[in-house]
Amino acid sequence: MGKGYQIKCNKCSYEFEALLGIGMRFPSEYAGTVEAIRNGDYGKRIQDLFRSHNNAVVNCEREIAVCTRCNCLKVLPNMSAYLPKDGCAEAPAYVMANDLEGYDKQFDYDHKCSCGGDMRIVDFPEDLMNGKLVCPECGEKLSFDPKNMILWD
Ligand SMILES: [Zn+2]
Ligand SMILES: [Zn+2]
Repeated sequence: MGKGYQIKCNKCSYEFEALLGIGMRFPSEYAGTVEAIRNGDYGKRIQDLFRSHNNAVVNCEREIAVCTRCNCLKVLPNMSAYLPKDGCAEAPAYVMANDLEGYDKQFDYDHKCSCGGDMRIVDFPEDLMNGKLVCPECGEKLSFDPKNMILWD
């Protein structure tokens, strides 16, 4: 079961629906992501790690990311890469964020916006509560309203 959130601008008509966490299709989404990594869809750095380490894993949980240039919001898989602390030789079929305690982070993925800017993963809902996110359309500060939480599966 995942959690979602609807972000609405109080000033203009901007709306953004973010489905976060993981859903029932997560195991197959995870397998598809690892295949894409091995094919080089996410760049050479993470491809090399997965090619040279059978035990490499990736954090595929969906998070909100914000462009540091144009402020646009997107939901992206986190994509940080990890190796197991205990040196276990084979990666499990999939890992969830809770499983990552047994792993060491190797590096974060550099998410890029279509405008060419860098995207950073948002601390949700803290960044929204602290007024760190602004509407990409009109620049108004976006705020957090617990009413806008949604559940999905
Ligand atoms: Zn707005
Ligand atoms: Zn951008």
